[in-house]
Amino acid sequence: MAAGRTYLDWNATAPLFPEAREAVLRALDTIGNPSSIHAEGRAARAIVEDARASIAALVGGETENVVFTSGATEAANALLKQGLTGCCGKNMALAMPVLVGATEHVAVLAAAGDGRRARVDSDGIMDLDGLKSQLKETGPALVALQLANNETGVIQPIRAIADIVHAEGGALVVDAVQAPGRISFEMASLGADALFLSAHKFGGPKGVGAIVFGDSRTRLASAAISGGGQERGQRGGTENIGGIAGMGAAAKAVLAKHEAVRKIGELRDGFENHLNRIAPDARIAGQHAPRLPNTSLFAIPGIAAEKALIAFDLAGVAVSSGSACSSGKVKASHVLRAMDAPDWVLAGAIRLSIGHTTTEAELEKALGVISRLVAKRPLNPISAEKSAQNSSAA
Ligand code: PLP
Repeated sequence: MAAGRTYLDWNATAPLFPEAREAVLRALDTIGNPSSIHAEGRAARAIVEDARASIAALVGGETENVVFTSGATEAANALLKQGLTGCCGKNMALAMPVLVGATEHVAVLAAAGDGRRARVDSDGIMDLDGLKSQLKETGPALVALQLANNETGVIQPIRAIADIVHAEGGALVVDAVQAPGRISFEMASLGADALFLSAHKFGGPKGVGAIVFGDSRTRLASAAISGGGQERGQRGGTENIGGIAGMGAAAKAVLAKHEAVRKIGELRDGFENHLNRIAPDARIAGQHAPRLPNTSLFAIPGIAAEKALIAFDLAGVAVSSGSACSSGKVKASHVLRAMDAPDWVLAGAIRLSIGHTTTEAELEKALGVISRLVAKRPLNPISAEKSAQNSSAA
């Protein structure tokens, strides 16, 4: 990282583990094709299979049930567009209605198309009674939900959701992208039929991910990419062995860092306590729900996210906005909208997300930026904001 910079945007991408970097470089120097039967091919195959075992260990799954992809977006597309076969005693293929949570990542929302959305409450937690009634209407459905939200860090009660989905004869796909390195979880206790991961969210390289199926019968109903039959016919194309090796090494490294999670939680809680002292009117999204220990999505009345992001960046601090930026325009977050957040939160949401190398001094630097922004805001920010809205509406 460039000198003087403070990186507090781990949910966008986590810094590469040195072990992962080394594994990528070693794999790139391995000349064989993993499908070749000669010694060079077998050496490349060994790299892929070692990484597969590490991914299985990370999620408490079986090695044979891991399929590598180019990332979580490809995994979500494959799972929701091809459907599953072999689980719940039937084919959950294309004819199945697809139901996804209203606060899912855009990768999942886009893969699900215009299908139904399952509602959440104002803390971002799935409305379980609402989900039950939606499933009564749709019948058995392929349901995709996040274990933890990338913007708010809110953790869903996945086991209870899996039981509801299965009771209606459906299948559950879990987006576990934000979980490794933040919380521990086990495939079996989640009750998911499949989950997916993205390496760069937990210290691996970008552009590689994996699907992990819940058992050896459950598979994609048809290949994610048709081709030479790699990945046991589930995803054709010569394996990205550099990326796969890096993902495997990151999985091992992140498991070993598990102790750091408590420290991360203490740092985040300390940050939020301090934030509340600087700006007692600040709102923290999902504050009353179980959350990832590394994430804080907050808004302060009278401080617009765009202005705050520039101030953070100029001070050398990388954070992100709760709003997605596209074509130069700030779009209010669909996650906060689904949580019925007021306009000032939609306009002001800033996400800070940390990891095992984050220090108290780095968070103090971020708090310094916030203090300066608070000192400069209008005296009565909420009414100032309302009058600005009224005059622009007029
Ligand atoms: N799901 C979640 C929760 C994410 O945070 C992301 C990345 O931001 C994705 C899916 C998509 O991951 P990728 O861009 O690595 O395909």
